[in-house]
Amino acid sequence: MKVFAWLGVIIFALCSLISCVSTPVSSGMETLTVVIDAGHGGIDGGVSGVNTSVKESDLNLEISKKLKSYFLSGGFNVVMTRETSAGLYGGLSKGFKMRDMEKRRDIINGANADLMISVHLNFYSSPERRGAQVFFRQDDQNSEELARYIQKQLNFTEREYSPLMGDYYVLNQTNCLAVLCECGFLSNPDDERLLLTEEYRDKIAYRIYKGCIMYMLEGA
Ligand SMILES: [Zn+2]
Repeated sequence: MKVFAWLGVIIFALCSLISCVSTPVSSGMETLTVVIDAGHGGIDGGVSGVNTSVKESDLNLEISKKLKSYFLSGGFNVVMTRETSAGLYGGLSKGFKMRDMEKRRDIINGANADLMISVHLNFYSSPERRGAQVFFRQDDQNSEELARYIQKQLNFTEREYSPLMGDYYVLNQTNCLAVLCECGFLSNPDDERLLLTEEYRDKIAYRIYKGCIMYMLEGA
């Protein structure tokens, strides 16, 4: 863990939490790199909203863009795996889903990132289930700790979750500190309605960002 780099960025990041500054880190400390991975894209829309059929891929991108702006305001270097609605698989031929995942892996590992956050939305057979769940990499204490900090910030609905171990390619095949955030359930009408609003997406993004900063302050 790059402890001193964490410390170097924290002052700027804290200021960004209270909206007082938007200045890149320039103290001679190494700038921390965050990769934000908006899940799905292109022909792969992910799950769909139960009432409106809104595509997970589109909402993931909107939340990711908000997250990007918070990390930029905190002085981080930000790399996005995608910034448009297109997928990362190239041509639509056999094996496109695996090519999409491999491209994400290559972007994340190639960025020499200090942190990676993959943004997704969930769907469940029971429409009652709602709220955000954070997943960590198996046998990775740092990932689990970060997930705990982010989950704490996201536990603002009536249901409180604990972070869960996630068997996801984007976690298993990458090598930096990483978590995957399922930011709500598109199978739940209330979550869907809220996620369709910019205000709620901004709230989710801010809380993920805040969880990361609190982890750097207390958990790293
Ligand atoms: Zn997804």
